[in-house]
Amino acid sequence: MGTREQVESLKATAGNDKCADCGATDPSWVVMPHGIFVCIKCAGCHRSLGTHVSQARSIELDTWTHGDLETLTKYGNENNNKVLEARVPSLIVRGTPTMNQRLREAWVRHKYEYRCFAEDGDHDKLKTDGKMRGFIDKREKNAGRWNRRLCVLEPKTIGGSDYTLRYFLDQLDTKPAKGEIKLQDATLHMEGNEESLEFAITCRDRTYFLRADAADDLYRWVNAWRFARARSLGWDGTEEHREMLIQCKQLLDAPQTQGFLEKTGSSMKGFKKRFFLLQERYLTYKKDPADSLALGFMKLGTHQDGYNIDRQSDTLLHLVTPKRTYPLKGSKEALDMWAAAFENAITQLPLLGQRVDVYNA
Ligand SMILES: [Zn+2]
Repeated sequence: MGTREQVESLKATAGNDKCADCGATDPSWVVMPHGIFVCIKCAGCHRSLGTHVSQARSIELDTWTHGDLETLTKYGNENNNKVLEARVPSLIVRGTPTMNQRLREAWVRHKYEYRCFAEDGDHDKLKTDGKMRGFIDKREKNAGRWNRRLCVLEPKTIGGSDYTLRYFLDQLDTKPAKGEIKLQDATLHMEGNEESLEFAITCRDRTYFLRADAADDLYRWVNAWRFARARSLGWDGTEEHREMLIQCKQLLDAPQTQGFLEKTGSSMKGFKKRFFLLQERYLTYKKDPADSLALGFMKLGTHQDGYNIDRQSDTLLHLVTPKRTYPLKGSKEALDMWAAAFENAITQLPLLGQRVDVYNA
């Protein structure tokens, strides 16, 4: 057997058959000196670390020595991750096959270059207290220009769980904040394409469009947000508070559903096209995805609370809430997707935080 065939057969063994960094199947790259198998997207991230940290090589295109085979046999994905993922806090953003590429890049850098998750690594690089302060570009309302804002994420009261993200017009936070987002009923999601540094925070009446400076910066804000949000939902901040931690993680990792549907206004005068976003249990709708102001916002409760999905036909679905029923129209494919997403939110997701009434109709 030639050396490449031997590399291929090592790749087929348990642990090596999935990317060491994101779990994607059929990794086609090797990274030295770690002796691991990764997917092409994670290989790209290793390349950006510089050859003093990682050397990414294509299984198919590179030539392999017996020394390489020894390294791959000695380490491999499982042994590598036992060391470099020895202590990943539960809420940290980890690699997934479909994640934003900038977050992936930062995850790989924090894992290999800073060794944040190894026992002997730099644990101060990523804080887990949900506090963060720094500059973020914030878009003006309704697709306006971007302005640099000092942003501060912290509890409002010392030691409290009332986390807020405040932003200031000045470079300092000496004057009162220009705006304040309460985390308890706000969600964060990535915006734009795979390479984007943009993210959005959606709360009751408004979506804030934000942009980080660089991948590491984005990663720190997103992680800080996750810890702060979990704290605002009642997590005590320790890994021992397991039950709550699992529920918070389930919410923070819940898939997001978005797209256009047609809905009637409260006067029931015909259907209008609206952009809907469902994240966790929060449903927002507005005229256009880029709009800052929402036309409506609700938090879906459980079946017991009176929330239901009633499919009338292939192209008509009723979202039933205790106060009123929302007829929603769309293509069969769109409504199949939405019915499943609503059902999942209503029946599967934890119901943490406040109950929220319908904000607008
Ligand atoms: Zn990968």
